[in-house]
Amino acid sequence: MTIEEIRTGLLKKEFSAVELAEQYLARIREKDQELHAFLNVTEKLALAQAREIDEKIARLPARQATGEELPPLAGVPCSVKDAILVEGVLCTAGSRMLENYIAPYDATVVQKIKKAGALIVGKTNMDEFGMGSSTENSAFGPTKNPYDPTRVAGGSSGGSAASVATGECAVSLGEDTGGSIRLPASFCGVVGLKPTYGAVSRYGIIAIASSLDQVGPMAKTVEDCETLFHVIRGKDPMDSTSVESKISNDEFLISKLRIGVPKEYFGEGLDPQVEKVIRGAIEKLEHAGAKIIEVSLPHCSYALADYYIINMSEISANLARYDGIRYGASVSGGNLLATYMRSRGEKLGAEVKRRIMLGTYALSAGYYEQYYVKAQKVRALLRKDFDQVFEKVDVIAGPVSPFLPFKIGEKVGNPLAMYLVDMYTVTLNLAGLPGLSVPAGSVQGLPVGLQLIAPAFQEQTLFETGKAFEKIRTF
Ligand code: GLN
Repeated sequence: MTIEEIRTGLLKKEFSAVELAEQYLARIREKDQELHAFLNVTEKLALAQAREIDEKIARLPARQATGEELPPLAGVPCSVKDAILVEGVLCTAGSRMLENYIAPYDATVVQKIKKAGALIVGKTNMDEFGMGSSTENSAFGPTKNPYDPTRVAGGSSGGSAASVATGECAVSLGEDTGGSIRLPASFCGVVGLKPTYGAVSRYGIIAIASSLDQVGPMAKTVEDCETLFHVIRGKDPMDSTSVESKISNDEFLISKLRIGVPKEYFGEGLDPQVEKVIRGAIEKLEHAGAKIIEVSLPHCSYALADYYIINMSEISANLARYDGIRYGASVSGGNLLATYMRSRGEKLGAEVKRRIMLGTYALSAGYYEQYYVKAQKVRALLRKDFDQVFEKVDVIAGPVSPFLPFKIGEKVGNPLAMYLVDMYTVTLNLAGLPGLSVPAGSVQGLPVGLQLIAPAFQEQTLFETGKAFEKIRTF
């Protein structure tokens, strides 16, 4: 159900919030054995929150049946990526290192969705510490693609995307450092937004790469994504990088929209079947009245290399805290150094170790200037590419992923092949820009997402374009 359908049903007393929660929890029991979208189902929490909503509805005066006093997510079942803290609930980030970690407080985004009346149904599967594009790097096993269980759901927020796609929840909170919301949204046929860097608080999120990380909404429709975004966004005194953005109320007319199509996004590496769906989507927008303009992002071929240097460097710094003494699981080695080595050696997975080692190398004396500093300069060039394009267009459109959802096991042994999946998504994290993935069509029954990109803090343009596209797409 959509947020609006849930709200109307609750107000008309077609069902209670407890009945609704029970239905969704039953759906999880039915589907998740095979799908593995959830690491932990928070049944008691969801039911307690549902009872509160039912009490609130019972107290509404009869003439108040419009529900103005009902918060925006009242009774909406929501799953939460396991990198986001929910007080009193296990939070593993997909890692054995945190297999026993109970979150001592709520992330700001969780406080906000609780206050807005959402029912938290569980914590979703992810690649270990968000490192991966398929959830195969989860220490607890992969999430399957709801459209074909032999294929991946995408990652790292694969559990969030799959849980929305199968109706195990209505909406989800994901996290995107280099595509982790948009890619699984594309692979599972749902909508996902990576907000502008700073639009949403990162307080209470397990840090991966702090200059790239951003929490965002995932849902079945653009409208639901928009509603959830407005609940979680805003300045937070606990995160100094967060800002209060102004929401534009300008009238949106598709006939006035200028859409940039970067020629570099349709070159080498793009599966022709994916290209056909994306080009078809852009044509539909053109028929609806939008002006299509070919643009160029000349530095985007450096984005992937740039991203992986910055990502790994920041990971090596952020993950230093998991030493078995200060944070994380501890495996005693008899003395301090051996305890550090055994804890990290046994509790972190191969991809995490690879990135810590490469990142430490890139930051070390003698190499720092050559790698990290240079990567920051390239990052500035990428941002400039976008600034120049946005002088001529309102949004940019292109693919989310160069390929269709691939087979489980197909790429997991080859890190470079896995990194290539991120070629269209990481650029936005480097430039700090918002990006929306909207289902655009399918190939052999597998979903393909269209990526829409806007200038910083112009999420509203993405929502309006996305909603207009949902009306004209045909599948
Ligand atoms: N595929 C990206 C990576 O492995 C995803 C990161 C993310 O967004 N958490 O770094």
